[in-house]
Amino acid sequence: LKTNYRNFPMVPRVIFGNGCFGQLGEILLPKRKSVEAPIIFLIDDVFEGTPLISRIPLFPNDLIIFISAEEEPKTDQVDFLVEQIRSEYKEIPSGIVGIGGGTLLDLAKAVAIMLNNEGKAQEYQGWDLVKKPSIYHVGIPTISGTGAEVSRTTVLMGPEKKLGINSDYTTFDQVILDPDLTKGVSKEQWFYTGMDCFIHCVESLDGTFLNAFSQSYGEKALELCKEVFLGELEDSESRDKLMMASWHGGMSIAYSQVGVAHAMSYGLSYLLGVRHGIGNCLVFQYLEEFYPKGVAMFNKMIEKHNITLPKGVCRDLTDSDFKIMTNVALSLEPLWENALGVEWKKHISPEKLRSIYQKI
Ligand code: NAD
Ligand code: ZN
Repeated sequence: LKTNYRNFPMVPRVIFGNGCFGQLGEILLPKRKSVEAPIIFLIDDVFEGTPLISRIPLFPNDLIIFISAEEEPKTDQVDFLVEQIRSEYKEIPSGIVGIGGGTLLDLAKAVAIMLNNEGKAQEYQGWDLVKKPSIYHVGIPTISGTGAEVSRTTVLMGPEKKLGINSDYTTFDQVILDPDLTKGVSKEQWFYTGMDCFIHCVESLDGTFLNAFSQSYGEKALELCKEVFLGELEDSESRDKLMMASWHGGMSIAYSQVGVAHAMSYGLSYLLGVRHGIGNCLVFQYLEEFYPKGVAMFNKMIEKHNITLPKGVCRDLTDSDFKIMTNVALSLEPLWENALGVEWKKHISPEKLRSIYQKI
C-alpha cells in the first residue's frame, strides 16, 4: 500500500460574491500588526487611475505598487520588489495583497515568501525549498482561469529556467473572489485565460495521475467551462461561473498534474516570451492525437467566440531554437508522465515535438 501521499495546504479563508471586495478593509484590520508594519498592495497597472483604487482600504503607512502584467513575473523582479519594501520600512509588512491576474497573484505570493526568507528568489524555484513561512498574503483575482488563486505554486521566469516556487508556504492565507472585478477584461484575454482553465481540466482528467480527488474538481470545472464558453449565459452568471471554474480547475491539478499542452507551452514561453494563456491555445489546437475530445470542444469554442489565433509564430525559427524549446518541454518529466504514462519516453521524441511546434 502506498503511504507517501502528499499532505497539501489549502486556502484557509475565501470570500465570494459581487462587491465582496468592499470587505477588504475589515478583513485586513485584525492582521495589521502596528502602524510601522504596513500592508503592501501589488496591483496590475491596468487599474491605475480607475475607481477600484479609491476602494483600497489604505492606511497612512501603506504602499501601493503598480506593476505591469505585460511580461510574466521574473525572479529578479521579485528580488527588486523585496529590496524596495525592505529599504522603505523598518518593520516587516503586516501583509501583501496581490490584485490582478496570474501575473500579479504569482508576484504577491513570491514577495510574501521572500520577505521572510534569505537569498534570492531563484534559489527557491523547485519543490519544497522554502524554509520559513511567508508573511500574510491575500490574492484578489481580476481575471479568471489560471487557478493561481488556489495553487501552492508561483511560476517565475528565472535566469536558467521557468519554474514554480512550489511550497506549503506559497498558498494564499486569504482569497477574495469578487466576479465584478473581472468586468473590464477584453474578449481575447478572457478567452485565453479561460482556456487555461479548460486545458487544466482536460489535462488532469485525461492524465494517468487521475484520482477521485482530482476528478471531482476537474469534472465540475469542465462542466462550468462548457456552460461559460458554449452555453448562453447572462454576463453576470458567466463571470461567476468562470471564477468558480478557475478555482476548481486549480484544485484539480493540485492532486494531479497538467500535460502535453503545458509542457510545450513552457517551451514557447521560454524561447519567445509567449504568454501562458495564448501559448496553451497555440499548442492545444494541434494536440488532437493526445486529447481528441478536448481539441474538438476547443475548436467549437474558438468558432463560437470568433477567436483568431496568431499564425506563423514558429515560422522563422532555427534548428537550435527548436532544440531549446523541445528541451524545455521534455525536461518537465512529471507532465509527460501524467499525459503518457511511466513509459512516456517511448511515445514521444524531439522530432515529434518539433513537428508540432512547426505547425504553430
Ligand atoms: P495576466 O495576469 O498576465 O493578465 C493578462 C492581461 O489581462 C494583462 O494585460 C492584464 O493587465 C489584463 N487584466 C487582468 N485583469 C483585468 C481586468 N479586470 N480588466 C482589464 N484587464 C485586465 O494573465 P493570466 O492569464 O491571469 O496569468 C498568466 C500568468 O499566470 C502567467 O505568468 C502564468 O505563468 C501564471 N500561472 C500561474 C499559475 C499558478 O498556479 N501559480 C497557474 C497558471 C498560470
Ligand atoms: Zn496553466
